[in-house]
Amino acid sequence: MSRFIVRIVFFLVLALSMAAQRADCHIAVLCYHHVDLSQDTPYSVSSEQLVSQMQALRKAGFSFVTLQQIEDYCYKGVQIPSKCVAITFDDGNHNTYTKAFPLFQKMKIPFAIFVYPSAIGVGHERGFMNWEDVKGLARAGVTVGCHAWDHPYLSRPPADIQTPKAYEDWLEKECRRSRETIESHVGVSVNYFALPFGLSDQKVYQTLKKLGYKMVFNVSGMTNALYADPYDYNRQIIVKTDSADEVVQKASVRPIYFTKIYPERRARIQSNDFNASFQIFSSQNYEAASIQFLLGSLTKNAYHVQLKHEADYVACVLSRDKRGNSCMGNWPFIYTKKHPTHLE
Ligand SMILES: [Zn+2]
Repeated sequence: MSRFIVRIVFFLVLALSMAAQRADCHIAVLCYHHVDLSQDTPYSVSSEQLVSQMQALRKAGFSFVTLQQIEDYCYKGVQIPSKCVAITFDDGNHNTYTKAFPLFQKMKIPFAIFVYPSAIGVGHERGFMNWEDVKGLARAGVTVGCHAWDHPYLSRPPADIQTPKAYEDWLEKECRRSRETIESHVGVSVNYFALPFGLSDQKVYQTLKKLGYKMVFNVSGMTNALYADPYDYNRQIIVKTDSADEVVQKASVRPIYFTKIYPERRARIQSNDFNASFQIFSSQNYEAASIQFLLGSLTKNAYHVQLKHEADYVACVLSRDKRGNSCMGNWPFIYTKKHPTHLE
């Protein structure tokens, strides 16, 4: 039989007491990229789409919150609406300033941007905002976060990085100098980091935590519960084909958490011949027959893949809870045949 088949084992675990009262707490963070971009890309939505999506979220009972409110909720337990959504824009595209900003001001909806210095330094000529634009947004109350220095695959350093020292220097520039550069240009403190492509590994996770960021955002496609890790906070990318109803559905997907998983979250595994396994937290809340397991490729943004090539993957569990809600739980891991020398 093919070595590429990853066998799946799962166990349902018994009830954990706090689960029921926490099950309803539910925070979605949406990730947009472009508005009204003329080039054809799945990552651009039209102004009309954006407005109708916000209206649909409001109509479905979602409250719009800032990242600061989520941080206060995570760290201090400051109350937050039980069904809420935060809006973020990645990459610092110029149309975030020219198109999204006026719409959000008009709708009185807060949002955050995640920018990276190598793009903002170039500015308008490559379709990005410049530092003046970012400053203008910050002055108007938009939250400014860091998206590394040069938007790399943080779990896969460039090939010329071959020593632990070179790797440390590279991580330092991507995670710390990027933040300081944004802070000095914009004059605000930067407390949030969005992982480029949503990719991370154990070392990156620990580094960002040590640097004192308050929250780190991925693009796992999940929403968040009360006990979500602020350093692995879930976001959902919105694409061109998403209708207003689909955006509401995405924001309404409930997160599934696990008491045990294999491979471990963000682990580097060196063989594709293993049993993937998981135990669902509070499993009595789910319809056992509805549980599905999928293997996805984070870099290709696709499910139903085989673990063939060295890449970042995601193990994903879909289910329905006993109230009929769609639920998703997933975790990333990295398949590398050889352990990278810079991590030895
Ligand atoms: Zn990005």
